[in-house]
Amino acid sequence: MLNGKSALITGSTSGIGLGIARTLAAQGCNVMLNGFGAESEIEKIRSDLSEAHGVAVSYHGADMRSPTEIADLVRSAESRFGGVDILVNNAGIQHTAPIEEFPPETWDAIIAINLSSAFHTIHHALPGMRRRGWGRIVNTASVHGLVASANKAGYIAAKHGLVGLTKEVALETAGSGVTCNAICPGWTRTELIEPQIAARARAMGVDLEEGGRHLLAEKQPSRQFVTVEQLGQLVVFLCSEAADQITGTAIPVDGGWTAQ
Ligand code: NAD
Repeated sequence: MLNGKSALITGSTSGIGLGIARTLAAQGCNVMLNGFGAESEIEKIRSDLSEAHGVAVSYHGADMRSPTEIADLVRSAESRFGGVDILVNNAGIQHTAPIEEFPPETWDAIIAINLSSAFHTIHHALPGMRRRGWGRIVNTASVHGLVASANKAGYIAAKHGLVGLTKEVALETAGSGVTCNAICPGWTRTELIEPQIAARARAMGVDLEEGGRHLLAEKQPSRQFVTVEQLGQLVVFLCSEAADQITGTAIPVDGGWTAQ
């Protein structure tokens, strides 16, 4: 379905971003990977993805805290593939602490990586999308872009901001062939939430599996983790013709979390 298209996915060396990269590549889409990790592991991800699906896959290590590096990332993807048709703003970090104890430098890092980086990528990638008359921008927000939980000041503020940015960009691009949507996952078992599972397990004196079940029971009525494949398939749908008129939305994938 996406033969000949090219996607830039920030934070795609693990977890949800890598899941989205795999699903898009399986649809014939070229992929620019980004994120941190060991050089040899990233190279293996890159070459496996390219071989498995016969698409071009590149990697750029831009730090999402740096507007200059982000500009270079978008330029590199455009020169490698001839354009960025699909932009997935997915890089993100988490920190949990009461607001009085929340380190100001961690607040700044969360806002930079989880929110401002999306402004910078869109700022650089949108002109090319407009020229080609087609583009898909998908922002990985969170249920925490729609509702709050305690002890996550930076994350909640950034994700609510990202949902707001999504709506704003949708209005600016309406009717241009470019859409902008946010996906809002609930608990998805990735590196990002392992510290929270471990903390819960420690507090309850149980193993990690039981700790995970407690986290789910508290917020996610389905009591099942969202999978990265499900999120990848949602991005593929948002890239399809059926989704031409879907823009400015924030779509929960949360086992009923935000229905409560
Ligand atoms: P993850 O830790 O597996 O992935 C995060 C990715 O971002 C990694 O590739 C990492 O290298 C990259 N990254 C981190 N800091 C970066 C930086 N400064 N510059 C460039 N890349 C950087 O976690 P994940 O759960 O896959 O998270 C992906 C996105 O999904 C995040 O935006 C997160 O907030 C969101 N999300 C996750 C969940 C969940 O339950 N796991 C739920 C809702 C939303």
